[in-house]
Amino acid sequence: MKQLWAPWRMPYLKNDFPAGGHECIFCRKVHCEDDAKEHVLFRGQHCFITLNLYPYNNGHMMVVPYRHIGKLEELDEPTVSEMMRLTQRALRVLNAAYAPDGFNIGINQGEAAGAGIAAHLHQHIVPRWRGDTNYMTVIAETRTIPEWIDQTYERLKALWAEMFPEGKGEKEPHESET
Ligand SMILES: [Zn+2]
Repeated sequence: MKQLWAPWRMPYLKNDFPAGGHECIFCRKVHCEDDAKEHVLFRGQHCFITLNLYPYNNGHMMVVPYRHIGKLEELDEPTVSEMMRLTQRALRVLNAAYAPDGFNIGINQGEAAGAGIAAHLHQHIVPRWRGDTNYMTVIAETRTIPEWIDQTYERLKALWAEMFPEGKGEKEPHESET
């Protein structure tokens, strides 16, 4: 992840940590009352899904536990299970929305591993298209994000609600989905 050319992430790295402030952006999303403003797509029992404000690619989602915890090995089993269930749902929604050719799915754990917010674990889901691999090597500002994030949010939020109409939470641990 860290090697990807992502100039739009720079304001995030530079400015989103006000001097003296240590507020966690994920905890802010946990407690916010305006999901659209914070780009929260779905809230489960243990985790939520949000868009990355400075995406590596269009449709870049993150699955985030509510708990402010930085190590996967310290998450309880229901949280780990829900992270993967929500990841599956996210993949289905992204497939329906964008038909990507593949995905990068994973966690950067610890600053040494490239985690932007190391104190609060988050799993990335990044859609990939065959043609986009060249942006890892071509340093140019010709790359554009086809949709602004609010438009992406509205589209994916509506699609999520349509595909998973139960909406609130993950009530059945072994629910079947088609
Ligand atoms: Zn946090």
